[in-house]
Amino acid sequence: MTRGLVYAEPGADLVVEEIVLDPPGPNEVQVRIEACGLCHTDVHVVETNGWGMEFPILLGHEGAGTVEEVGSGVTAVAPGDRVVVAWRAPCGKCRSCTRGDPRRCSSALRAKPRARRASDGAMLSAVLRCGTLADRAIVHEACAVKVPEELPVEQAALLACGFSTGAGAALWATPVHEGASVAVIGCGGVGLAVVQGAKLAGAGRIVAVDVAAEKREAARMLGATDVVDASTADPIAQVKELTRGVDFAFSAIGASSGLDQAVRMCGYGGVATLVGVPSEGATLGVDLYRNVFGPKVGIAVTHGGDTIPQEDFPFLARAALDGRLDLARFVTATIPLEKAPAALERLGRDGIRTVVRL
Ligand SMILES: [Zn+2]
Ligand SMILES: [Zn+2]
Repeated sequence: MTRGLVYAEPGADLVVEEIVLDPPGPNEVQVRIEACGLCHTDVHVVETNGWGMEFPILLGHEGAGTVEEVGSGVTAVAPGDRVVVAWRAPCGKCRSCTRGDPRRCSSALRAKPRARRASDGAMLSAVLRCGTLADRAIVHEACAVKVPEELPVEQAALLACGFSTGAGAALWATPVHEGASVAVIGCGGVGLAVVQGAKLAGAGRIVAVDVAAEKREAARMLGATDVVDASTADPIAQVKELTRGVDFAFSAIGASSGLDQAVRMCGYGGVATLVGVPSEGATLGVDLYRNVFGPKVGIAVTHGGDTIPQEDFPFLARAALDGRLDLARFVTATIPLEKAPAALERLGRDGIRTVVRL
C-alpha cells in the first residue's frame, strides 16, 4: 500500500490517504520515498487554497529515497540507486538552455501525472511535480538525482529544496568569492543554508541577521562570523558598522523589506540577492537614482538557488560527507507521516528542519 498526504479541497484538513500509482512511463522513474523535508512551499499551497493547482493535491517536494522501478528508455538510474527528487531539471530546449545557461532554465522536464487517490480514482496534482510526502513518487529521470548512499537519507532529502536553494544562492546564483563579506537576512533553514554556501565559497566574513536568539546561535554554529540582532537596533546600521557594507547580501525572508534591507547593507558594487519567496504584490522600495550615483548595488533574484540538480546535488552531498558542509545539523526533528499536518502548521517555529521518515 502507498500512502500520501492529500489536500482534498480548499480549506480541508490535510489527510494521509491511500494512493495508487500508474506504472512509470518512458523516461520516468518510480522512487520509494524514504524521507521528505517539510518546506514552506507546501504551506503556501495550503494557505493560498491550492496555489492555482487542481484539487485534490498531493503534498511534498523535498524528498529522497531509492529507485524501485524504471520506465522505458531510462539510462541515468537503476533500481536500488539512492536518489534525491529534484523539482527543477533544465529542459535543454528553452532560450536559457540553448544559449548555455541552464541555471536560468525557464522550464523543467517532468513526468506525467501518475498518482491517483485510491478512494475515487481522482488524479492528484503533485506539488512542484514531486508529491513526495508519500511512500512512492514517479518523476522524470532527470529529476531523480543519484547521490552517494553513505549520506543519510534524511540529510539527502534536504538537498531537494531548502538547502540547495540557500547554498545555491551563494554558490551559483550570485557566486560569493573567496574573502568576500556577506550578510544573510533571516536564519531559518534557507538562510542558514546561505551561511553554509558562503562558508564553502570561502567568504571572509559572514554576518547573520535574525530577531531570534536561537537562530543567530545556529548561524554561528554553521559558519557565521558575526551575528546581528534585528530586534534591538537597526540591522542595516549594525551590518555597516561591522563591515562598512558587504559584498553580498542575501534576503532569506518572505517580507519584501528583506531585499530592501539587503540592498542597503551592501557596500560599493555589492550584490543583493532575493532568496526567500515574497508575498504576492510585494514591491521594492529602493532609491534607484541614489543607487546609480552612489553604491551601484546589483539586485538579483534566484528561484531555488538556480541549481543544476544533476551536477550540484552530488557536489553538495560529497561536501556534506567530507565535512565541508554540516547537513546533519539541519535535521532537527524526524517524524512519521501522520504527524506532518501538525508539523506543517508549526513550520519555521521549531528547530531548523523537520523531516518526515517514510
Ligand atoms: Zn521547498
Ligand atoms: Zn531550459
